[in-house]
Amino acid sequence: MLRTHTCGELRLSDANKHVTLAGWVQRTRDKGSVLWIDLRDRYGITQLIFEEGKSPAELVAKGRTLGREFVVQVEGVVTERLSKNDKIATGDIELKVTAITVLNAAKLPPFTIEDDTDGGDELRMKYRYLDLRRNPVRESLQLRHKMAQQTRTYLDAQNFIEVETPVLIKSTPEGARDFVVPSRVHHGEFYALPQSPQTFKQLLMVSGFDRYYQIVKCFRDEDLRADRQPEFTQIDCEMAFITQEDILNMFEGLVRHLFKNVKGIELPSVPRMKYDEAMQRYGSDKPDTRFGMEFVEITELTKGKNFPVFESAELVVGINATGCSEYTRKQIDELTEFVKRPQVGAKGLVYVQYRTDGTIKSSVDKFYTPEELGAWTAKFNAKPGDLLLIMAGETFTTRKQLNELRLLMGDKLGLRDKQKFSALWVMDFPLLEWNEEAKRYHAMHHPFTSPKPEDIKLLDTAPGDVRANAYDMVINGTEVGGGSIRIHDRATQQMMFSHLGFSEEEAKKQFGFLMEAFEFGAPPHGGIAFGFDRLCSIFGGADSIRDFIAFPKNNAGRDVMIDTPSTISDEQLKELALITKK
Ligand code: ASP
Repeated sequence: MLRTHTCGELRLSDANKHVTLAGWVQRTRDKGSVLWIDLRDRYGITQLIFEEGKSPAELVAKGRTLGREFVVQVEGVVTERLSKNDKIATGDIELKVTAITVLNAAKLPPFTIEDDTDGGDELRMKYRYLDLRRNPVRESLQLRHKMAQQTRTYLDAQNFIEVETPVLIKSTPEGARDFVVPSRVHHGEFYALPQSPQTFKQLLMVSGFDRYYQIVKCFRDEDLRADRQPEFTQIDCEMAFITQEDILNMFEGLVRHLFKNVKGIELPSVPRMKYDEAMQRYGSDKPDTRFGMEFVEITELTKGKNFPVFESAELVVGINATGCSEYTRKQIDELTEFVKRPQVGAKGLVYVQYRTDGTIKSSVDKFYTPEELGAWTAKFNAKPGDLLLIMAGETFTTRKQLNELRLLMGDKLGLRDKQKFSALWVMDFPLLEWNEEAKRYHAMHHPFTSPKPEDIKLLDTAPGDVRANAYDMVINGTEVGGGSIRIHDRATQQMMFSHLGFSEEEAKKQFGFLMEAFEFGAPPHGGIAFGFDRLCSIFGGADSIRDFIAFPKNNAGRDVMIDTPSTISDEQLKELALITKK
């Protein structure tokens, strides 16, 4: 090997040892009589020292020629440092260099390779291999590695078998568009890249594998949105002969195992909340439960006082921003502007300030007496010093809008600490979701999800009310995983497809293989998939998933390093029968 030790390894106890290190030149400090160089590798940094008069002159001269990011091998003697650096593990020592070999020179990097870099996003993406040299990015990938290892440890101990499923498949409807791959051999025919291994894992249950998992790439051609990756990784799992309860316990176990073994955190047992309740209390099917600020409905208290907005509203609901009663006019205007942005889409915001002096002031003083407003503050359990923020309108929309405001206030009040973790199961999702554009129902999870048996009778009369045996795991307001108990008989699956608007023929063409498999002894089964990139970013306390992916795409879906998507030659196009001319 080109080294005896790594750059993160040497300590005071190694003093006087003659060692060889190899790594990259991070930084040089030249004081004239002394020259210091920080040598970096994956494991850390070791300080090298060259002293005018004490080190051979040609060695000092050579040290001076080393540029940033040169790859060098150095020999030297470990010595105690005069001024120690307690910020790094090797900070008690330095290496008195006795020989240097330049293994490779380097061009000046386009940005500084340190924890805080001057490189913008796009530049860092273009030179991702250099960005990956930086500690924070490297550490994120090391965390990911640990997460994957611990996932395998847990699932293996629970008798799960990791099975690879194909990447060239036929489309699986998970609600997004497929990426397709033209077949050269079969002109005019296409493979699709899997949006998930859903049908394959179900077939593995029919095969008797019983407990399957896979850490697997999935592909969805969705509209671009910040922080969405066209290819991403799931921890994909399926189990047979289980009830929903078994799945919840098994995967709560996985998440708690990860917290314990990756972060050293004992996560308390994960509470459960029904979808309807989550919507009512938080206006979201993925509530951030790190903080309270729950919704309080005051519809009844507001009626009959001639305030037109509330008179016509189906729901009047608000939150209590504790300690915010003294917000200035400007601050409140900013909140109103926030909810009026097209992304939120509310018409306005009503506020009630329960001032610290005990008086009540609101934006609807004209319509409500202080006593009436007092009844509101009582319903909110508000104290002097609190600020009520109230919205009104159609129930579902108003809840969604208030959810945005709740999250904003959570941020403003510092209630969304990234090092604090709160997990939640959200259950009993609606089976179907009305799609206004297509004017028909879509499967909210996917078409293989089983309706709650007691709700099946509603499928014809009130499809929107049918609940599914489906569940999501939510951590800190982010959906990190979701799954369901599956349909496992042909008749129900066929019925489901027909409710989703598939003709019998279409269903057979697309999913005949699965329905046929159900006729050959399919066991009851169900599963879940976790978004692995997202899970890693939450564990890492980061907002973006990008740094938890070694080579991510940018927000426009491009890999700017290898410069793709890109055109292909006419030759290739012809071979694939995508053009016919020439
Ligand atoms: N295939 C589903 C998904 O990717 C997860 C599941 O139902 O297991 O969301």
